[in-house]
Amino acid sequence: MKITKLVVASHNQGKIDEIKKMLSPYQIEVVSARELNLPDVEETGTTFAENAALKAEQLSEASGLPCLADDSGLCVNALGGRPGVYSARYSEFEKDGKTERDFSRGMDKLLAELAALDTADHSAYFACVLAFKIPGEKCRFFEGRVNGVIAHEKSGTGGFGFDPVFIPDGSDKTFAHFSKDEKAAVSHRGRAFEKFITGVFNAD
Ligand code: IMP
Repeated sequence: MKITKLVVASHNQGKIDEIKKMLSPYQIEVVSARELNLPDVEETGTTFAENAALKAEQLSEASGLPCLADDSGLCVNALGGRPGVYSARYSEFEKDGKTERDFSRGMDKLLAELAALDTADHSAYFACVLAFKIPGEKCRFFEGRVNGVIAHEKSGTGGFGFDPVFIPDGSDKTFAHFSKDEKAAVSHRGRAFEKFITGVFNAD
């Protein structure tokens, strides 16, 4: 099946921008869940793959379009892999009776948790699972990972989420100092994407 349009199952603008940029060389119209007024999908899974599949299947069904879902997160080894699948929720805080997502506060909380452990082990990795669901076909999965360390303080203004505290292996600066292209070349999402492109677009 020639894919000419797909929906990205995310309401996270940072992720959507990265995904749109990665798909820009292919003749494909990319729309986000928000642009189609699709509902937020509750992430009730306990693994990245389960959550990605929930999003891809529900939003493909709701839109009638092929749907690409990304579930990703930051796993910090000294914290037993947390926040992991709960990375988005880790940066949610109550304010005036409402739940707000505040990545800057989330990073402060993470740095404080690590500082309290007084450990030299700042190793961590970002993981990403992409689920791709074409209506009437089985969901397909593509995984990527990037190892690195958690910095001692936030640095840089680019990217999104935990980018200002994550230094990928082989670099001395956080992801928040990388351009979108530089980040995509080494990131968990970029690596999962390479597999997705090879498996879905360059398969024949
Ligand atoms: P999801 O929408 O449930 O997959 O949330 C993933 C969460 O993991 C995001 O809200 C970020 O906190 C974090 N995350 C995933 N990928 C990245 C990344 O590339 N940079 C920074 N943070 C990320």
